[in-house]
Amino acid sequence: QEITSMPALELARRIKDKEISVTEVVKAQLDIIYKKEPAYNSYITVTEKEALSQAKEVQKRIDEGELNHSPLAGVTVAIKDNICTKGIRTTCASKILADYIPAYDATVIEKLKDAGLILIGKTNMDEFAMGDSTRTSYFGETKNPWNIKHTPGGSSGGSAAAVAAEEAHVSLGSDTGGSIRQPASYCGLVGLKPTYGTVSRYGLVAFASSLDQIGPIGRNVPDCAALYEVISGYDPKDSTSVNSAFSHSQALLDDVRGMKIGVPRPFLEADMDEDIRRRFHEALKTFENMGAFVELFDFEEVKYCVQVYQVISCAEAFSNLSRYDGVKYGLRAGGYDNLEELYKKTRSEGFGYEVKRRIMLGAFVLSRGNYDAYYIKAGKIRRLISEAYRKAFERYDIIMSPVTLRTAPPLSEKKSSSPGKFSSLTLNSSVNLAGLPAASIPCGRDKKGMPFGLQLVGKWFGEKDIIRAAYAFERTMPYERPEGELM
Ligand code: GLN
Repeated sequence: QEITSMPALELARRIKDKEISVTEVVKAQLDIIYKKEPAYNSYITVTEKEALSQAKEVQKRIDEGELNHSPLAGVTVAIKDNICTKGIRTTCASKILADYIPAYDATVIEKLKDAGLILIGKTNMDEFAMGDSTRTSYFGETKNPWNIKHTPGGSSGGSAAAVAAEEAHVSLGSDTGGSIRQPASYCGLVGLKPTYGTVSRYGLVAFASSLDQIGPIGRNVPDCAALYEVISGYDPKDSTSVNSAFSHSQALLDDVRGMKIGVPRPFLEADMDEDIRRRFHEALKTFENMGAFVELFDFEEVKYCVQVYQVISCAEAFSNLSRYDGVKYGLRAGGYDNLEELYKKTRSEGFGYEVKRRIMLGAFVLSRGNYDAYYIKAGKIRRLISEAYRKAFERYDIIMSPVTLRTAPPLSEKKSSSPGKFSSLTLNSSVNLAGLPAASIPCGRDKKGMPFGLQLVGKWFGEKDIIRAAYAFERTMPYERPEGELM
């Protein structure tokens, strides 16, 4: 098997056994990237120089035995471009940050470097992570490696495309309302949105701070779990950080006997692609055959989660994005006569349509007269949704649903920026509102061959249950590579 298509954990083992050098890995990876990037556009920045020098350093640490306990030393990782990397531009796929070079590393980046992973590039995304297609990027859209006429999803579309196209072994994305799980689903990968607080947000450019989480994407469950182990842990630099010990090797038990699985009735009754519905039912059967119990339960509260998500995420985005004023960070427009004009021109020129739309929505729901009716009310419904989850988790270990209602749409499809009342966002965003962990794992493919995922939601800090169930299911359905035009 080629270096770039090898599972990350296996490659790391071979590097440790001196079968392959880290420099060989990086060179092979760069070759693939340069071959495929013209077609996919997964990356905004490829960090060739840094990766090659990091390779030497990591090889030395491996040779000295310093990384014996690091499961992923020497493998390549792609980073969503809203995670700050010292000395490497971090654009958020926005014109306003197109030349922004952070003076510090995000905590997750420090952890990756400590663990000996090689940062191979910064990936494309929807501008400021607002979107579900990677099409709002200032740097052009990304293509789905399963079929380049389709979107890879978003907002972490570049991180998913890079891993699916074997342009990186694993990657980091961020998930505010599904942005790790949905692209993982569209690209046939495993993605994990961790429990709020278990992965530091220090150095993640904020979109909606009470919902944002960084998480891993990989081609299989063990790789994804190992990457989660590397990036999680308490960080004094993030005030919402919590301590939670996770060990991927302890979670990888392929046994779900006695596990209780709940399925929210509204998710099952939703209008979805027939292939997705059929495979979802088959997946539930598979779990039953493996010894788990499956039960439907009522979850009416979840019907309001898209509206609640929109009010809260836009309100938080409105205040988070007020820092881009042409003074402190990034772009400064020319031709202004006073301070107010500077703000106005910079923000008008620097932000794209979707970002402006959300800032305006946020301003609206926070304005006097609307604040109680929208923002405060959304907070109350958010509470009810969390409470409903808490109750459900008294009975179940895992809550399951499809990740999306459809497979990746063609890039030519006109996109509407306001999702419908019941959309894929309904399946994903309630998890962020409650701060729960959830994974997307491959579940099947539709008639056109496009992949789709199964969503496993766990209790707060229940990543271990998720990984256990995901691993058991994965063994019944081994990883499939894309067979796109370039493969
Ligand atoms: N698609 C959702 C949105 O557009 C979620 C985005 C995200 O999770 N960053 O807001």
